[in-house]
Amino acid sequence: MRIAIVGSGSAGLMSAWLLQSEHDVSLFEASGRIGGHINTVTVPTNLGDLPVELGAEFVFEYGYTGLHALVKRLGLHFERASLPASITIDGRPTFVLPPTTGAAIRSVLSPATLRDLLWVGRLAITGERVARAGDWGLDVAGLMARAGIPRDVAERFLIPLIASGWGVPRDVARGLAAYSVVRVMGLRLAHEPHNFTLAGGLSSYTSRLAADSPRCRLLLNSPVLGVDRDQDELVVTTDRGAQRFDAVILACDWHNSARICTGSAPLEAWRRAFESFDDYQVRVALHRDPSYMPTARALWSSGNFFLSKTLQPRNTVWSGYRWRAPVFRTWLRPGESEPPTTLQVANYRHIVVTPNHHGRQQQLARLQGTAGLWAAGMYTSGVDNHESALRSALRIAERLAPNGERVRWFSPLVSA
Ligand SMILES: Cc1cc2nc3c(=O)[nH]c(=O)nc-3n(C[C@H](O)[C@H](O)[C@H](O)COP(=O)(O)OP(=O)(O)OC[C@H]3O[C@@H](n4cnc5c(N)ncnc54)[C@H](O)[C@@H]3O)c2cc1C
Repeated sequence: MRIAIVGSGSAGLMSAWLLQSEHDVSLFEASGRIGGHINTVTVPTNLGDLPVELGAEFVFEYGYTGLHALVKRLGLHFERASLPASITIDGRPTFVLPPTTGAAIRSVLSPATLRDLLWVGRLAITGERVARAGDWGLDVAGLMARAGIPRDVAERFLIPLIASGWGVPRDVARGLAAYSVVRVMGLRLAHEPHNFTLAGGLSSYTSRLAADSPRCRLLLNSPVLGVDRDQDELVVTTDRGAQRFDAVILACDWHNSARICTGSAPLEAWRRAFESFDDYQVRVALHRDPSYMPTARALWSSGNFFLSKTLQPRNTVWSGYRWRAPVFRTWLRPGESEPPTTLQVANYRHIVVTPNHHGRQQQLARLQGTAGLWAAGMYTSGVDNHESALRSALRIAERLAPNGERVRWFSPLVSA
């Protein structure tokens, strides 16, 4: 088959990697680089050029079976690193979790903080039950109620903490699907906070996926403007003209997919399905300004959460944590100016995964393959992490190339 893939994020690249030996594959990418939300950039420091993440950064053990196996197969190696978090609640001293250094231990030793931490434990127990049951029906506010979290702890600490992790206001955080939040945060009692990093950053795996797909035609700077169905073929339009394909995989996110299908009567049901997804616009600045970090240097952590009563909760990741270098990434509040030392800013439309999200995914699942169209991408299945993007590509490849060697290798790994 002649297959067009639209978008070279994890889902598009994985689709190409799985299908390129079985079919004639063209991969259209709107921008001048591959990777989509996986975006490692190089920052010059006095320790040399450091690879830091502008998009996705965190990879855990739990929930990333496919990514771990893929990275190994691509000949790369994940390093496990600790992932401490500092939490600053308005009007209170900063504390650090898990408390593994002297300063961190001292930081949690107040009755108010110890009380909050007891409730984190309770939330983890209830959250784990929700995750095990695959309960998509509960939102974050419902999870707090089910765990019996006192209102002051939920409103002052736990809901703002989730909001800052996603870069969204408290109200949006309250409505997120508890199942997704728990799975993405890996909120488990036995969970020791950690991150898996790759030498050269996460872009090394997306680059390796592309390099390991030599039969795929990769077309950078080639935004797809529209797709239409014409008798037995799909017509893909770019500013260089129209090309015909037997199948098209839209791996380019919900809003671009909706736009691409607009105006095509045979793809109308697809357009409506794409438009049903919700998102929130986030702006992330990579900068060198330490004033976005806790006042006490000894409490600087990998993640630094600022939970204010009046302002939108905020998160600054210490991008230079592994090297103790002054490079930070802050989720800016709506309308907030960038720090003067900003190196780069990225705007993302982050999917908002509510309890309704799973129903929207099921609607897309019912449409898969109709009119020769397929939808891949993190939002199409599972929770909002890039393992979901990889799995979404596999589910399509299982139908388009069931006997493909890479499909047969990957399928049993992620259905386990
Ligand atoms: C700020 C941020 C932080 C995140 N952090 C984490 C994390 O720490 N851990 C984690 O597991 N997940 C994280 N995620 C989620 C994860 O990054 C994504 O789930 C995953 O990378 C998305 O992959 P994708 O292939 O579905 O889409 P994308 O990566 O969005 O790729 C879509 C691609 O399609 C291209 N495109 C769009 N329109 C067109 C068009 N018309 N024609 C051609 N190409 C087009 C885009 O340029 C892009 O390259 C984060 C997401 C964001 C936004």
